[in-house]
Amino acid sequence: MEDLFANLLSRDKEAIWHPFTQHGLGRPLLPVAGGAGAVIRDTEGREYLDMISSWWVNLHGHGRPELAKAVADQILKLDHVQFAGATHEPAVRLAERLLEATGLRGKAKVFYSDNGSTAVEVALKIAYQHWANKGRPRRLFATLEGSYHGDTVGAMSVGRSSGFFDSFSGMMFETTVLPVPLVWKGFPNEEGEDAALREIASLLDRSGDQMAGLIVEPLIQGAGGMRFHSLRYLVELCRLFQERSIPVIFDEVMTGFGRTGSFFAYQQTQVIPDLICLSKGITGGILPLSATIASNLLFESFLGDDFSSALAHGHSYTANPAACAAALCSLDLHKETDSLGQVARMNARMAHHLEELGRHPKIEHPRLLGGILAFDLASSSRSYSAAVGRELSNFAQERGILMRPLGNVLYLMPPYCTSDEQLDRAFGVIGEFLRR
Ligand SMILES: *Cc1c(COP(=O)(O)O)cnc(C)c1O
Repeated sequence: MEDLFANLLSRDKEAIWHPFTQHGLGRPLLPVAGGAGAVIRDTEGREYLDMISSWWVNLHGHGRPELAKAVADQILKLDHVQFAGATHEPAVRLAERLLEATGLRGKAKVFYSDNGSTAVEVALKIAYQHWANKGRPRRLFATLEGSYHGDTVGAMSVGRSSGFFDSFSGMMFETTVLPVPLVWKGFPNEEGEDAALREIASLLDRSGDQMAGLIVEPLIQGAGGMRFHSLRYLVELCRLFQERSIPVIFDEVMTGFGRTGSFFAYQQTQVIPDLICLSKGITGGILPLSATIASNLLFESFLGDDFSSALAHGHSYTANPAACAAALCSLDLHKETDSLGQVARMNARMAHHLEELGRHPKIEHPRLLGGILAFDLASSSRSYSAAVGRELSNFAQERGILMRPLGNVLYLMPPYCTSDEQLDRAFGVIGEFLRR
């Protein structure tokens, strides 16, 4: 085994271009050989706690034999078939179960693609074409400042405010960026919310008839820096759009499948979104798959007797049977392992630690919802590459904890199988870093 891994890093350097990476800085990579439960193992056999669920996808821990078996069995039955003009049991069964889980059975349809960005592209295209099909074209999307919806061009356009996409500004379409009054522990922001809502209501009175849709990451804006807004703000914001029949898209790519304490974040609101985007944890974090759930009202606006009003969108691997089988197995695992119970347990443990950490002068804006904890590290720079975040992630990695701060925002989003003892260990290392 040792030989096999010996020059992995030099071979990587020769052949690979990594995501979100400045190769000119020559920063070291972690050569990973395996994973089990909440632990990742490198090629030297050192272990690391995966406190960010491998880019937010892993839910039940690494190396689950149930998922491996479900995928292998499915491949032997049916590996793949094109999804235009054909269907199969795993895709249909998964759509039924997603609609059941979202409470939308009989009220919505599932459109499959392969990742969070395409789930968003599909939602945008559905909202856009919906208006064109009605003979009242609209092209303006409303989005929230600090939002992130993926890296493809449409998804960048509605998420450009996150600051990742400055190099691509010339490629993107125009959007209306709405304010987000942020909240954190001990800081509700009702005055800020009321002012923002008044501003948005007057904007919609002026130009609501040009709005094709609103896209929101419900309750927590992830990649923009784990920014929290209140339930109250979210509900009122959506009401302003929905009472004008403007479709509301909930991007639950990160918040879906239990992260915020409910199975979907939107279930904490009284809002029924017109479109829901799901991906990341959908397969338990083992295969790429995504779903865009669209209301029957939107679906019906695409019906007609020729192709021109149909949704001309599809991907080679749409509804891949092995990925669907993984997603079905993952839904079973949620029940068997009581995911929401595990998230509640982690939440209690994290609340306890946050209480202590929150007293440290370097920690600002402590926040916690479900299994997601975040705070800002006081620092002069808030950019994505902020040095303090980099320092902490290096410090933690040397002590066997994998974290990836967003600029000066430190967050933990562990898999649901993470034990209290493992959480304690991660917080121990954060505490050590702060005392240094
Ligand atoms: C990660 C993410 C996406 C993009 O998903 P990819 O699978 O990385 O394309 C979109 N929206 C949200 C909220 C995300 O967190």
